[in-house]
Amino acid sequence: AGTLYVVATPIGNLQDITRRALEVLKQVDWIAAEDTRHTRQLLAHYGISRPLISLHEHNEASRAEQLLVRLQNGECGALVSDAGTPLISDPGATLVRRLRDAGIHVRAVPGPSALIAALSIAGLPTDRFAFEGFLPPKAGARQRVLESLKGMAHTLVFYEAPHRLLASLEAMQAVWGADHAAVVVRELTKRFESVQGETLGEVLAYFAAHPDEVRGECVILLGPDEPRSASPALDPAVVLGDLLEKGI
Ligand code: SAM
Repeated sequence: AGTLYVVATPIGNLQDITRRALEVLKQVDWIAAEDTRHTRQLLAHYGISRPLISLHEHNEASRAEQLLVRLQNGECGALVSDAGTPLISDPGATLVRRLRDAGIHVRAVPGPSALIAALSIAGLPTDRFAFEGFLPPKAGARQRVLESLKGMAHTLVFYEAPHRLLASLEAMQAVWGADHAAVVVRELTKRFESVQGETLGEVLAYFAAHPDEVRGECVILLGPDEPRSASPALDPAVVLGDLLEKGI
């Protein structure tokens, strides 16, 4: 049987693709893509021409069966999404699960993802973080999700569409307060890449004053509610307890 390669593609800067990704895309029998027109343009940029098969959330289950048969017949394929790493807030999980269940080899060809790129420049704790993907678009559902996340001792990472950025930041401020640590990272790897921090109040004030910058793709990061102390042994109460126990 053949192999499916899950291939990461650029999130804005066309230089951000690995040599291995280009080799794999050149050699596979077909490439399953979220938007074939978008991927055709990307491939044209690198001088690659392979048959493209559309795979999006509405046809993924039936496509998975077709692609499984092709892989079982010895073909090799690649899966790409419009940007970044497939399956990360993008289609592909149904396909990968189906192939793995059928014993097909699925291999990673890693590369860019907005999630990791945003964490790498936000300056918030990264030892523990939770990826929350997109919030629900409706205010009530969004509020319930945000309230369920209050009190988390790790950094929270959200994907957001530009036209919902302000509404989401306001909803976050209502739950965490204006002084809570927050960073918005926009246009990663593109010409106008920007990072705004340090608190929810500051970020909201910034975008209210610069409405022209409320566009482009963005990632919102919130700091932990209760950062864990780096070394629990240095908790004064614990240290004092130890000393008293030893009779020092
Ligand atoms: N699979 C992609 C990945 O690995 O990052 C994510 C796809 S998801 C449909 C698109 C969202 O990712 C955008 O709404 C935005 O939140 C984030 N995103 C993608 N590219 C970005 C960029 N260049 N700068 C900032 N955020 C980006």
